[in-house]
Amino acid sequence: MRTQIVIIGSGPSGLLLGQLLSDAGISNIVLDRVGKDYILGRVRAGVLEEGTVELIDRAKSGTRMHVEGLPHDGFSLVFDGRDHRIDLTGLTGGKRVMVYGQTELTRDLMERRETSGGESIYDASNVQPHDFDGNSPYVTYEKDGTTHRIDCDFIAGCDGFHGVSRKSIPERSLRVFEKVYPFGWLGILADVPPVNHELIYANHPRGFALCSMRSATRSRYYVQCALDQKIEDWSDDRFWDELRRRLPPHHADAVITGPSFEKSIAPLRSFVAEPMRFGRLFLVGDAAHIVPPTGAKGLNLAASDVHYLFSGLAEHYRDGSDKGINAYSARALSRVWKAVRFSWWMTTIMHRFPDTGEFDQRIQETELDYLTHSRAASTVLAENYVGLPY
Ligand SMILES: Cc1cc2nc3c(=O)[nH]c(=O)nc-3n(C[C@H](O)[C@H](O)[C@H](O)COP(=O)(O)OP(=O)(O)OC[C@H]3O[C@@H](n4cnc5c(N)ncnc54)[C@H](O)[C@@H]3O)c2cc1C
Repeated sequence: MRTQIVIIGSGPSGLLLGQLLSDAGISNIVLDRVGKDYILGRVRAGVLEEGTVELIDRAKSGTRMHVEGLPHDGFSLVFDGRDHRIDLTGLTGGKRVMVYGQTELTRDLMERRETSGGESIYDASNVQPHDFDGNSPYVTYEKDGTTHRIDCDFIAGCDGFHGVSRKSIPERSLRVFEKVYPFGWLGILADVPPVNHELIYANHPRGFALCSMRSATRSRYYVQCALDQKIEDWSDDRFWDELRRRLPPHHADAVITGPSFEKSIAPLRSFVAEPMRFGRLFLVGDAAHIVPPTGAKGLNLAASDVHYLFSGLAEHYRDGSDKGINAYSARALSRVWKAVRFSWWMTTIMHRFPDTGEFDQRIQETELDYLTHSRAASTVLAENYVGLPY
């Protein structure tokens, strides 16, 4: 088999890149080690920046998102008994975010790929990129007991943090930066109306809480928890009680409870691997970087990587110029590090750290107080939250 680009991973970055390439007449094959249903069963991100929405529209995959997604003009920060709204639209000259679940977005991208005749191979085991430091890269995989080979011009490693792409690059050629946070997020999904029409980020002496949603009838709630917590120790009742304790009374009283249908604990980590290109292999999205979910940047960063890589590849095939692909890593990393900084900062001001002393506690309180009194400080938060320009 031969194609121009092999895309390893059928998550949002692989599907979005594949669609943009197909629509530009650049052939590609998407490979994933698991099946479609498994991918669509994963519950993950939900807040899309305007740049991400534009890219999804460009891939002609945004029809349902514009009908069912919830545009948000702001969110609330609650702390020390205060409730401070960040007016995203007012502070950024009209920008907003779109609340639309990653699962739904992935479904839309998969459907668009199917209807436009794009080739995806699911349940492909032992996927391996080869010879990407030379001029004739290829990818092998096993399916139904047979080993297959796809020759290509370039390989896009869109296979997430645990994928094979980054691990295939010699260790000495990658520089890795990592910060692991001393807590996790316990999250649930429940078919109950959200407590508020906008997101609420709460800093409370018992720990952080986030009230989010997937739709007007489906809520996504999180509470900060210790890393040694076990999911089986968290009944729904215990979760709802803990969530309400961390919210001011006017929000706590408005929480509508119900049975959860998804419950999980996610550790928090910041991670960046540099560079994002090795020969003819490009790392995209979570394969190259991870951010804590505070600030909702993971999926949005995957989208901006796709934008830079697609522009470079389109330029290569259209104009015969390698300027864009040569600049890919530096352009993507410049934006990645700004989002890493923002997610780290938001995590730092909103969570209770186990080793926080009185000095650090006062600094955190002062950061939040400053935000509520300074339009400039709120604007910095807002412009990062809606997404920095590409
Ligand atoms: C539990 C959880 C909660 C999250 N919550 C949020 C959130 O609230 N907000 C936010 O912004 N972000 C969140 N994120 C991050 C966000 O989901 C990711 O940034 C986003 O999924 C990145 O997309 P991606 O396509 O780069 O990688 P992924 O979505 O991870 O997709 C990678 C794909 O590659 C496939 N793959 C992996 N290894 C191989 C292999 N060896 N061979 C072939 N295929 C392979 C996988 O099966 C997968 O389909 C969360 C992530 C997790 C794990």
